[in-house]
Amino acid sequence: MTTIEEFNEHVMGSYGRFDLVLEHGENRTAVDENGKQYIDFGSGIGVNSLGFCNEKWVEAVCAQARSIQHTSNYYYTKVQADFAKLLCEATGYDKLFFGNSGAEANECAIKIARKYSFDRYGRDAERNIIITLENSFHGRTMATLSATGQDVFHNYFFPFLPGFVNVKANDSEGLIKTLNELDGRVCAVMFEFVQGEGGVVPLDKEFVDVIIEECAKRDILTIADEVQTGVGRSGKMLTSQVYGVKPNITTLAKGLAGGVPIGVCMADKSCSDVLVPGTHGSTFGGNPLACAGGIAVLETVLEDGFTDEVTKKGEYIRQKLSEIDEVDGVDGVGLMLGVRLKSKKAAEACKACLENGLLVLTAKEKLRFLPPLNISYEEIDKGISILSEILK
Ligand SMILES: *Cc1c(COP(=O)(O)O)cnc(C)c1O
Repeated sequence: MTTIEEFNEHVMGSYGRFDLVLEHGENRTAVDENGKQYIDFGSGIGVNSLGFCNEKWVEAVCAQARSIQHTSNYYYTKVQADFAKLLCEATGYDKLFFGNSGAEANECAIKIARKYSFDRYGRDAERNIIITLENSFHGRTMATLSATGQDVFHNYFFPFLPGFVNVKANDSEGLIKTLNELDGRVCAVMFEFVQGEGGVVPLDKEFVDVIIEECAKRDILTIADEVQTGVGRSGKMLTSQVYGVKPNITTLAKGLAGGVPIGVCMADKSCSDVLVPGTHGSTFGGNPLACAGGIAVLETVLEDGFTDEVTKKGEYIRQKLSEIDEVDGVDGVGLMLGVRLKSKKAAEACKACLENGLLVLTAKEKLRFLPPLNISYEEIDKGISILSEILK
């Protein structure tokens, strides 16, 4: 029996997968079970921010495994304290909650937003609506699915959690109209600066400013879902810095611990003490292996000049792509890029890339690049030349 046959016999079929069995990886190169090599432009959906088996990261995770791998959140560990301190200092947030995934980080943000309004306005005010954007993606749990503004994810799973209202992205008037209509009922507005699963669609700076201003006026919390855009991906520690704003809450996950499951919900002073004992928890949250991996990633991303290189590499890729006839345009920030093609289907191009030794992603009708943040120019050249061949 092949690995794929064995797998499919025992694992639920919730994913459309490629017929590819990856065996190991080194830096930005993955190797399949037949020894074939692939340049990685996907990082496992933006997770392996330092590539495969980065030396510093492996050392950190292995040392932690040899020391203490889990304790429960009834006790303290130094590695959790150190990681939380580093992350708060790097982002300017006051306090954070540890979970294990993007969806969990967003669940936490949703709970904080609802309790914030409950605490201030009381239960009878029913100030519990969270406004999210059309074409957004916030996760696969029932609450984050309810928040997600894309019908394709909603089939089958009715009924959804009440208290989520979608508005159009980049429609400031529409947002203000909805806020007025729901006056006194809204506790938060939640958004991605660059809609990832929605097709790498950046929000307009002007619209983001309106969200922040209108919410501040009305005592409504702003929640930035930076699960995909955070931790250096945009050429800044947080994409909120690219936009020059500071939402009340920011969630992080994918790239934060370089490949170990993690999710964090970070809050500013307005709401960092909303969660009190008994209101939220997670058995695995803040797992020491994840925290050790996270410290290795943060220390690297915070090195002098590291994020500037991310910006430069993003620009370099854009430049290279502009020389390919079939490329219609490129959207995104830093090393989060959505490539529009003129006539080829993104799904077919993605498959052809894979067959030719390049791992890329798709998002809606675009090819999506989320390469490891430390990818080299030489690897970029190799990857782009594979892409350019298959697009001929
Ligand atoms: C991937 C993603 C999520 C969900 O993260 P999981 O770890 O899969 O739960 C949420 N929000 C955004 C913006 C994402 O890209």
